[in-house]
Amino acid sequence: MPARNGRYNSLMRRNQFSCTVAVLALAACFAAANVPAAVSRSALPTTSPEDRELARAIFKELIEINTTDTPLGNVTTATAAMQKRFLDAGFAADDVHLLGPDARKMNLVVRLRAEGTPVEKPVVFLCHMDVVEALRSDWSTDPFQFVEKDGYYYGRGTQDMKNSDAALVFTFLRLHRESYKPKRDLILALTADEEGGKFNGADWLVKEHRDLVDAAFVINPDSGGVELDRGRAVVADVEATEKVYSDYQVTATNRGGHSSIPRPDNAIYELTAALSRLQAYQFPFEMNEVTRTYFKNLAGQETGQSAADMRAILGTPPDLAAAARLSAEPSFNSNFRTTCVATRLSAGHANNALPQTAQANVNCRIFPGHSPEEIRQLLMGIFADEKLTVKYVSDAGTVSDTAPERKAMVPPAPIPEVFEPLTRLTETIWPGTPVTPVMENGASDSIYFAQAGIPSYGYSAIALERDDDRAHGQDERLPVDSYWKSLDFFYAFAKALGGE
Ligand SMILES: [Zn+2]
Repeated sequence: MPARNGRYNSLMRRNQFSCTVAVLALAACFAAANVPAAVSRSALPTTSPEDRELARAIFKELIEINTTDTPLGNVTTATAAMQKRFLDAGFAADDVHLLGPDARKMNLVVRLRAEGTPVEKPVVFLCHMDVVEALRSDWSTDPFQFVEKDGYYYGRGTQDMKNSDAALVFTFLRLHRESYKPKRDLILALTADEEGGKFNGADWLVKEHRDLVDAAFVINPDSGGVELDRGRAVVADVEATEKVYSDYQVTATNRGGHSSIPRPDNAIYELTAALSRLQAYQFPFEMNEVTRTYFKNLAGQETGQSAADMRAILGTPPDLAAAARLSAEPSFNSNFRTTCVATRLSAGHANNALPQTAQANVNCRIFPGHSPEEIRQLLMGIFADEKLTVKYVSDAGTVSDTAPERKAMVPPAPIPEVFEPLTRLTETIWPGTPVTPVMENGASDSIYFAQAGIPSYGYSAIALERDDDRAHGQDERLPVDSYWKSLDFFYAFAKALGGE
């Protein structure tokens, strides 16, 4: 999962904001979507005690299957267990596909079919099934045992993201049991290797089985969610686009020699001079529909110079002096442009020898609409040294002379079809919580769909205390109540997207 809510989070804390303003801004923003008045909490169908038992059992089963990318982990054990649940519940075998490029990394794609001819393209719910490694010695409890204690569920994946995997499996089973017939197909994709590993399921499905996961849009509960401040819901982030992760290997080579006879040509100096040019370089300021909406909403909560600056960057043309002032905040800077930064360095082979190679890794986070190859060419221009090579490093670690040409789509304005029910249900479950679309500076599996032209929206429907983000960390846990609310949310949300 991408770092959760980091940017909005720190900003909110700094500004002691009031949420009413954002609610109003948002209401105006989606006025065209004809947002119905929020229904009372009691009007939302809640999950029965028996169904909570079932949803808890699925959650427990998933937590207790180790799906790390280690010799002990196996994603297929988890996806096959879910396949069995769907088949036992009476899903047609044709609608439950277990498939993948590796025996231990099989993905499960389940389809809840529309009645008759679908009126619209499907919706995909995208959930990764793998988790980050967790060591028993680091934890208070066994990370692969589902433990309920003091109002929390403990275990690896309780936040990231077996909670949502289980909630969606349960939701699909419930909808099927209730003979719910959507107007469009609803698809659940449970996938491998989001956190690491060589067999990313989202990537593989989009490339090899587009027919199974082709959709109007994707809902990815791996990011976004409701931030709590001592029990009070303050903001709901929805990831509406994200930057593209890309690594480059920059190498200077030299014939070397004895260090007692140095020459002007030197691999270390050439590399570091090039990196200094990168340090001094700033990529151009950019905005898209998502960041525009975000800063428009945020301007309503800010005061003074930063509020004025946020409005100024929304103008045509944008006020670049205002953008420069706001860029002093690193998280804003990252939201305004592509960034590239040196992250690793290695050089030389002996203390008394001239270096024959000097190598750096440069990590870029690319603004949607540009390709990794475009950025590679740009880097070569910035380095301005023809003796250097700039190669692309894939997620799997393979190094190649050129980078992919494929660019992530420029995101459309957040679509009312998603944001109207999402806002309404969020307001029902967490009253007074403004919803805002964000562009994540991090990366998730949404990118594979975005690169295929399918927008993806990240929303976990999980409410967490701001200081209790334990994804990837020790003693990962989820408030029991948060799990129940996510069940209520996804049931109602799936029906809203599928047509009541
Ligand atoms: Zn995740």
